[in-house]
Formats: sequence, C-alpha cells, structure tokens
Amino acid sequence: MTRALAPATASKLAKLGIRSRRDLVLHLPLRYDDETRLTPPGQAPPGTPVLIESPVRRVEVVYRGKRQMLVECEGIALRFLHFYPNQKQAFERAIAHGLRVRAYGELRPARGGAEMIHPRYHLVAPGEPLPATLTPVYPTTAGLGQATLRKLVQQGLAEESIEDTLPAFLRERHGLAPLEASVRLLHAPAPGADLAEAWRRVKFDELLAQQLQLRLARRKRREKLALALPSNGPLLRRFLGKLPFRLTRAQQRVMAELLKDLVQPHPMQRLLQGDVGSGKTIIAAIACLAAVDAGAQAAVMAPTEILAEQHHRKFSAWLAPLGVRIAWLHGALPAAEKRRVRAAIAKGEAGIAVGTQALFQEGVEFARLALAIVDEQHRFGVKQRLELRRKAESALAHQLMMSATPIPRTLAMTRDADLDVSTIDELPPGRKPVITHTYAAARRAEVLARIRAACAEGQQAYWVCPVIDESKEALQAALDTHAELSAELSGLRVGLVHGRLAPQDKAAAMDAFSAGATQLLVCTTVIEVGVDVPNASLMVIEHAERFGLAQLHQLRGRIGRGARASECVLLFQEPLSDAARERLKVIRESADGFAIAEADLRLRGPGEFLGERQSGDLPLRFADLAADEPLVLAARAAAEELLDAGEDFARGHIERWLGARADFHRV
Ligand code: ADP
Ligand code: MG
Repeated sequence: MTRALAPATASKLAKLGIRSRRDLVLHLPLRYDDETRLTPPGQAPPGTPVLIESPVRRVEVVYRGKRQMLVECEGIALRFLHFYPNQKQAFERAIAHGLRVRAYGELRPARGGAEMIHPRYHLVAPGEPLPATLTPVYPTTAGLGQATLRKLVQQGLAEESIEDTLPAFLRERHGLAPLEASVRLLHAPAPGADLAEAWRRVKFDELLAQQLQLRLARRKRREKLALALPSNGPLLRRFLGKLPFRLTRAQQRVMAELLKDLVQPHPMQRLLQGDVGSGKTIIAAIACLAAVDAGAQAAVMAPTEILAEQHHRKFSAWLAPLGVRIAWLHGALPAAEKRRVRAAIAKGEAGIAVGTQALFQEGVEFARLALAIVDEQHRFGVKQRLELRRKAESALAHQLMMSATPIPRTLAMTRDADLDVSTIDELPPGRKPVITHTYAAARRAEVLARIRAACAEGQQAYWVCPVIDESKEALQAALDTHAELSAELSGLRVGLVHGRLAPQDKAAAMDAFSAGATQLLVCTTVIEVGVDVPNASLMVIEHAERFGLAQLHQLRGRIGRGARASECVLLFQEPLSDAARERLKVIRESADGFAIAEADLRLRGPGEFLGERQSGDLPLRFADLAADEPLVLAARAAAEELLDAGEDFARGHIERWLGARADFHRV
C-alpha cells in the first residue's frame, strides 16, 4: 500500500486476507445499501432499511431506564443508545446552521410518528445531491468499520490499475466481461444494475487461479523421479492367474490405469474412488505386488485399527501363499514384537507393511519404499495427508489414495485436481440392493423381531449406536445398548465393539463376528469404514437422524455384500428437523454413492461437506462449487489453454487471485 497504514489497521486487513492494494481492490462487497433514494417516513415499508432526510428539530439526552440520545426530526425521531458527547454537539450545530440529517435504517412506529434506532447517518446542507450508486457493504472483521474499509477500497480503486490477466482469445471464447469494468461495477453499481456478468467474470478468474495452481503442482510432480515398477512381474502374473474371483470390467480398467502409471519413472499420485463394496482392496493388493516384484516395498495405511487388521488378514490370505511377507504394525503389539516388525520392515524382509498411521510415525524406516497406499483417505486430516505426502515424496514413492466417499465432480476437479482419478463405477456381480426402511423409535419391538428372524436363518446383524464421536458418553451408550439388547434378545450371541477397546480386543470382537461366533454386533461408528463381513445382512442404526448422509451411506455399505438381500433399518427419534427428514429420504431412496454425495453437497455446501477435518482446503471466496459447476468446467478448460500459452502468464494470474493463500492449496 502506498500510503502508510496504521499497524493496527494493517493487521486487521491482513485478517481479511488483504495484504496489498491489489487485494483491497479485489475485496468485493457482500451486499449493498441503497442510499440513492429518499423515502418519506410515512411510506417506508416495515422491516426494510430506507434512507430518510429531515431537518433536525431538537436533540436531548433522556433517561428511559438507560441514558439515551433522542434526535427529533420532522415526523421521525432517531434514538441512540450509545453515543459520544461530540455527536450531540454536532446535532446542536446542525440545528443552528439549518443542516439536515440523512439517516439509513429501519423505521419503527413510535409515539407521535416513527423512529429509527441507531441509524447510520450524516449531516448535509439542504440540496446536497444523493449518491448515484449503491453503498457497498464489505466482509469485515471486529474493529474495522465499514466507513474505514470503504475509504481504503476507494483509495485502492483510485490508485490501482486493474490490468486483465486473461488474453483476449480466452475472454472471447468464454464470453467474459472485462475485468476492470467488472470490478469497478461491483464496488459501486447503480441501483438496479445487472451484476451477473461482473460476478461471473470474478468467479471465473478465481476458479481459474485455483485450477492453474493445481495444474502447476501436477507438472512439477512429473519432473520428479520414482522407481519404475514392472507391470508383469512373476508375482503379479501368478496372482492374476489365481484370483479369488473374476475382476469386474471396472476393476480391470482401473488396474490397467494404475499399472500404466507405476511403470513410469515418475511418482504416481492417483485417487482410486469407488463406492462402498466396489472392490478397491484387491486393486490395492495388485499394486503392492508390482512393488514387491521390483524388489521394493509397499505400505498400506488405514484410518482405523479394525480396518488395518482386516486388510492384514485379507492380504495375508491372498498374498502369503505367493511367499510375500506381510508385516502388521499396530498399537497393541508388545514392545519387543513391535521392534521385530519394525526391523523386518527396515531390513526389507517384509514386502508389504499394513497398519494405521503409526506406519508413518514412530520412526518406522523402510528399506525401499516404492508405493504408499492410503485407504479411506478422506478420513485423514489435511495435516496428516500433507505429512504423508512428504514422507512418500522424500522416499520417491508412488502414491495411491483410495476413497469410498464419492467426491462430487466439481470437488474432484478442484480439491483433488492435482491427483489423477480412477473410478470403479460398477459393483461385483450378484449383489442384491439393500432395502432401507425408516422407523420411528417407537417401533423398536418390531425391529428386535426382525433381528431374531434374521439370526434364526443364520444371518448376522449390526446394531449401530447413536453417537458420532468416540467420547465417554459414546462408550456408555454402547455399553448400555449392549446390556439391553443382550437381555431383550436372550439366546442370541451378542458382541460389542467400540473405539475405547484395546486394539487386540477390537480385533477379537471383529474376528468373532467375522467367523459367525457372534450373531449381533453392537457397535459404534468404528465399523463405519471398510469392514467387510459378507454374511451380515441386517443393520439397525439408532438415532439415524443424528448422522450425516455420507456416514449413513458408509455404514449401510457394510451390508449387502453377500448374495442375500439385505435390509437397513434407520430408527429415528421424533420430532425430525426438516434437514434430517430430507437426509433420511435421500438415503432411503438412493443407493448410489455419487447421487448421495451430490445431495450432501447441495444440502450442506462444500465447506461443510468436506467437514472440519478439511476446512481450509478451499480458499474460494466468490465462487461456489455446487452452484457454479458450469464455470468450474470452463475454468478448467481455460487453465489448459492458458498454460499452453506460457507459465509466466499463469503465475501472474495465480498471484493476483490467491496471493498469500496460494500455499494453502498444496494439500
Ligand atoms: P471397497 O471398495 O469398499 O473397499 P472391498 O474391496 O472391501 O470393497 O470389496 C467388497 C467385497 O467384495 C469383498 O468381500 C471383496 O472380496 C469382494 N469383491 C471384490 N471384487 C469382487 C469381484 N470382482 N467379484 C466378487 N467379489 C468381489
Ligand atoms: Mg475398502
């Protein structure tokens, strides 16, 4: 900024992301006040702020329970609950000099006419012209008033030239308004002006900056080196020759995409998405074999102990017969055992290591890590993902992220645009769709009867307790429910698993359920991701109204894995909020993870959608990924075109729009 700012003002501006005059110019209004027209006090519609003008008759300080300043005008009074002595003096001078007051606020009926409480106001000479444009209201922060902010923005606009960072051919192709005119219009539009084109331009530029940033990161990755892995090594060939089942067409396609990446001497960064139960695990195992065939190692990380244990079990069943050694690192291992496992990884004796994030912490050294796989990657926080990426990058390892939470198209194109994406869009054959019912909690007895009937037929069931986190109350709820159900369903073998169990006890509870030793598993959301027990065909979710859509879909994905028709019963407590009713309706009517994710995005907005774990991921100020999908597509196309026209150009554009925020997007 050219004019020196008071440090206090500068730090407040910094809070708003404003660090330069250029940032000020792009600090755009949230909305506008219309101070271009005067409204006679008698004609003001109730509840709408208006501008009135009137001579000042009298000013006095009165006590109505509290000290107040009352300014009497013609047919209207202004009432101030907080005021300074100099305000009163200014009104007194106005009376003496015949000045008038212009006040902006809502009118309320009062004794002897109308009144405004705490209006924004200023004093004017008779006949002073009204502003021709709307008054902008900017996003601001505590201690920084609109008047100050407006003045600063005005200064910025006067001093800064806003050159267009887009070449003419791009503006024409995408039908974009000129930037400078758009920005100036948005700061000061005439009443009734159409702002759609101006906003479109601004949002486009912002989305374009984001796309460029992601693309540049991707280009940089292509310059890095990684170990090229063979796509037809002996282990891989043997495994493909004796797969436990026939891969679906989608699995085959995705496998080919992955192997094609892995033979490159550059690090793969691929997101493998596929709805719950689509069969991502076997693809991960295949990729691991490519690493082992190269004489190197693969690491498979899961977000929960239960899932890591299950992966270990599956990988061992599939790959140990080929002579591949699989290490399992988990929190409950005795210290000596842990040391032994770590040593096997460090010496390269273990070809594949499976575990929770402990795999990448606690000083685990790999002899030759060539591939890092993260299952259910959306369950890891931004920081963990970043940390992991760094570890993998410093080992020059390929990376495969897997996710069963389908990411709506626009999000995939933005948040994950620096990843290549493979999608399994087909379920293994023979799956029967899960039938979903919603029952009021009062119908619990019916639900118990259903559980009895299912178990009598040799099926198994989950009972998911009504909690979101693994807090103390969660534990209590699970324990209580377990005790109740054990009593109510006497004769059935009822198991229990929750997050507070020691890892070996969790594993034992899951093993018992997996083996059919327990028939009903009372659980918290620890079973939400990944758990695969095909014989379980009934799931009851208590207080389903408290769960998010993505979570309900994930939970329900635990059933419907066998050949038998499965049923999911969502018990809800009345009264239901509108939002909860809508969520339950979506989940009852749709089994398609993508459709559910789109509905989730629509119902909650992208920030919420990503959840607090990932907020900060989306530095968009103007564009809205859900509402502006066509613009995201256009910006994506334009990013390619612009990069082809040279990187300097792109850097200028990123700098303008993301500036200090640019780093944030590295995740
Ligand atoms: P997810 O994609 O949710 O991780 P999994 O990999 O756990 O799914 O697979 C779900 C179930 O389907 C597992 O029991 C798995 O062995 C089985 N499965 C995977 N692919 C196939 C296939 N092509 N044919 C038959 N069953 C399959
Ligand atoms: Mg899985």
